[in-house]
Amino acid sequence: MYDLIIIGGGPAGSAAGVYAARKRLKTLMVADSVGGQSVVSAEIQNWIGTIKISGEELANSMRKHVEAYASDILTFAEERAEKIEAKDGNFVLTTEKGSYTTRAVLIAAGSHRRRLEAIGADQFEHKGLTYCASCDGPLFEGQDLAVVGGGNAALETAIELLAYAKSVLIFNRGEDFPRADAVTVEKILSNPKIRVINNAEITEVKGDTFVNGLVYKDKKSGETKELPIGGIFVEIGQLPNTEFVKGLVDLNAQNQIIIDPRTQQTHTKGIWAAGDCTDVLYHQNNIAAGDAVRALEDIYKTLHTK
Ligand SMILES: Cc1cc2nc3c(=O)[nH]c(=O)nc-3n(C[C@H](O)[C@H](O)[C@H](O)COP(=O)(O)OP(=O)(O)OC[C@H]3O[C@@H](n4cnc5c(N)ncnc54)[C@H](O)[C@@H]3O)c2cc1C
Repeated sequence: MYDLIIIGGGPAGSAAGVYAARKRLKTLMVADSVGGQSVVSAEIQNWIGTIKISGEELANSMRKHVEAYASDILTFAEERAEKIEAKDGNFVLTTEKGSYTTRAVLIAAGSHRRRLEAIGADQFEHKGLTYCASCDGPLFEGQDLAVVGGGNAALETAIELLAYAKSVLIFNRGEDFPRADAVTVEKILSNPKIRVINNAEITEVKGDTFVNGLVYKDKKSGETKELPIGGIFVEIGQLPNTEFVKGLVDLNAQNQIIIDPRTQQTHTKGIWAAGDCTDVLYHQNNIAAGDAVRALEDIYKTLHTK
């Protein structure tokens, strides 16, 4: 019987693991990977206390921090959580490898990329259509590239691609960029190698063995246009990893876990959640880690006053 099971090994799960061990809660941390989504980032410049660090280095340092506390009090299991059920006042977690019982659960399962829904998008994935600029950008040297999306991630992708691309065309569904930082938007708009097409909806990805073009609809005029393009980078948002807790905790319309932001408690007694899988408005590494720390303070207090 564990005091706490943490699901996730991103900034939220890792911060929770360190705090749980320091509070001497008997904890099982279950994650199918450690480090979180920004592992693919070439450079992270806002992890507080570190001027710049690659996503991979940050992930490694999180793993080392968790491992430094791994002992009889904190166990790490590289497994995928499949189901959590309430049983006799406790919870039973089932993974692909076994089942574990716990008094409390912290869900820190984060989120994953929203996929492009257009004809040919699945067919050309990894054949010129990609979801990771820092992984695949260098493969597109000297090409005219497209970035799909209008948030910070899309704009940062466009900037990152400038290192390799001949030109970058941003396909933005809206009229402007309300979800992006003003400083990033300014950078984009002032760069002569970047052009923005607003009110654009990608309807088809074209190619033979590799992407060679795309079709988009101008949402204002209704007109459909085809353009030659050497590669497509998709950054159209994140979807929470909450499938395995459906029916156990309350989710909002976006399938994010609804929490009390003062304590990180869900509506289900004994279950807390933190980071990108929750309905907090902003999702960042520092926020995920901080939210998990808040959850741990509350979990500790709750378990010790039970
Ligand atoms: C490309 C990119 C660049 C970014 N750059 C920055 C940046 O520069 N600065 C910044 O502050 N933020 C950045 N972000 C956002 C930041 O990465 C997220 O806000 C942060 O990772 C959220 O942390 P998290 O712990 O909540 O979730 P995640 O990082 O998503 O971690 C979730 C964890 O849960 C695990 N998991 C999921 N489902 C299961 C399951 N069923 N069973 C077991 N384990 C599971 C995953 O393997 C992972 O370990 C970036 C995001 C992306 C995609």
